Amino acid sequence: MGLDTEDLSKSFALPTRMETFMAWGRKNSLWPMPYGTACCGIELMSVMGPKYDLARFGAEVVRFSPRQADLLLVAGTITEKMAPVIVQIYEQMLEPKYVLSMGACASSGGFYRAYHVLQGVDKILPVDVYVPGCPPTPEAVLDGVMALQKMIEDVRPRPWKERWTRPSFLAGE
Ligand code: SF4
Repeated sequence: MGLDTEDLSKSFALPTRMETFMAWGRKNSLWPMPYGTACCGIELMSVMGPKYDLARFGAEVVRFSPRQADLLLVAGTITEKMAPVIVQIYEQMLEPKYVLSMGACASSGGFYRAYHVLQGVDKILPVDVYVPGCPPTPEAVLDGVMALQKMIEDVRPRPWKERWTRPSFLAGE
């Protein structure tokens, strides 16, 4: 009996389908942890409310414990002093975990060109999605969440995540 390539392809199809199935589940059940520090944090609240309704995307179960969250929503100015705290929170989160940077301050320091302000949270965390604006509109945040969902669904490689290690300047704290 010859080699049945159709059967062979079916036997290899299962892991792929399982991966796709898991990605679908992850995409539709993100558990966000908000890290709001400034005005963007206030804007983020409206995304959770009934008008913009983040629940439509399966991400309404906001958690304030990193152990129960897989999406860190960084919304607002991040100072150098906060860096060890936010890194510790990130390290305590479940894998696979994601980071969304909301607004100019979180993404680049915004207009705070000061010694004590981190010039972008990606200096200390592997950011998956940047949402521009000051503050970003709720629609832009939803767009960012949808972009993240697409990334999860497509099981895209995340080299920035693979390369991430605890920042060396926090090693001694
Ligand atoms: S980006 Fe603008 S709205 Fe958001 S925290 Fe900074 S100053 Fe406030």
